[in-house]
Amino acid sequence: MQSSTPTLHRAGSPTGDPWLLTPGPLTTSVTVKQAMLHDYGSRDKTFIDINAQIRKRLVAIVEGADTHVCVPLQGSGTFVVEAMVGTFVPRNGKLLILINGAYGHRIAKICSYIGREYTTVETAEDVPVDLKRLNSKLSQDASISHVAVVHCETTSGILNPIKQVAEIVARHERRLLIDAMSAFGAIPLSSHSIKFDAVVASSNKCLEGSPGMGFCIADRGALATAQGNSHSLCMDLHDQWVAMEGNGQWRFTPPTHAILAFNQALDEFEQEGGVEGRGERYRNNCRTLVKGMRDMGFRTLLPDDLQAPIIVTFHIPSETKFDFKSFYDSLVQQGYVIYPGKLTVAESFRIGCIGRLGEKEIRGALAAISSTMNQFR
Ligand SMILES: *Cc1c(COP(=O)(O)O)cnc(C)c1O
Repeated sequence: MQSSTPTLHRAGSPTGDPWLLTPGPLTTSVTVKQAMLHDYGSRDKTFIDINAQIRKRLVAIVEGADTHVCVPLQGSGTFVVEAMVGTFVPRNGKLLILINGAYGHRIAKICSYIGREYTTVETAEDVPVDLKRLNSKLSQDASISHVAVVHCETTSGILNPIKQVAEIVARHERRLLIDAMSAFGAIPLSSHSIKFDAVVASSNKCLEGSPGMGFCIADRGALATAQGNSHSLCMDLHDQWVAMEGNGQWRFTPPTHAILAFNQALDEFEQEGGVEGRGERYRNNCRTLVKGMRDMGFRTLLPDDLQAPIIVTFHIPSETKFDFKSFYDSLVQQGYVIYPGKLTVAESFRIGCIGRLGEKEIRGALAAISSTMNQFR
């Protein structure tokens, strides 16, 4: 593809960009990028139909056609996390946040900003959220109205026991809010087996669209009673929902290009076999990556049974002259972008398994890592 934009490195992807082995933004397919080569007016009938289809397809991913609705929102993933907290937790409510990484902490920060009372149950970054303490907190504190949990904590790559969390929350008759940003579309989350008021994710993680919009899948009844809760007009998912149900349009300028890309990305998601097919490719990416890295002597932070096939945290090797900055730069030069660690418990770096990547690209990254490691010996 011809482009007048300067690229720093000609790399292996079909558009000459590096492969993004990160938590996002992620590599998208050529066809997803091409879908953005159109301008639509926000009142265009085709565009309005596309929005309706996207909303329907997203609800179908959680098997919620009869019970749930989808409300999209402009912005990155955090925007819709904030919108979910502000829309669903009433101003006199209280949120219990299960924390085992940076994204859990971010929900607490959102509560401080927007003035929602909250309490936390925290575990270390390499330990799943604590079900016993969740249970006892809910028994002890009647003022807790909602519980928030992160499905895959992208900080470490750990998979949280979402089903057990949902069962405990339902048994105590509280409401569950899920940040499934990095898991949605690759790790099953069915509204039939997991009871939640709202789950949020974005266009650019496992669904492989371009960045630019998030979405909330909400229980219709819970959303209907959320009117007037929000602290912010832009972040009010109830208001966005009512407007969209009315005329099919977004309240404010829609991210038209991101929406076209997302529609194409959902076509490709369905062609790949939905959650099952997408999850299978990522699981294979993750297995290939972990095996190849272990063969080179790297150690994963997490044991295999806690590892989600999304992003893998590796310990910085202590026995070599390893230097992350030169490691990173060398990989970029070879066409692969990885990510620094975000842990407080250990020195680490991360390699993602998601986005439009397969085994070939993972093997390419492993070869680049192997040749780079020779520099440190
Ligand atoms: C990526 C991510 C988010 C949102 O991050 P943005 O940078 O705002 O898109 C939120 N939660 C989790 C678990 C994530 O992985």
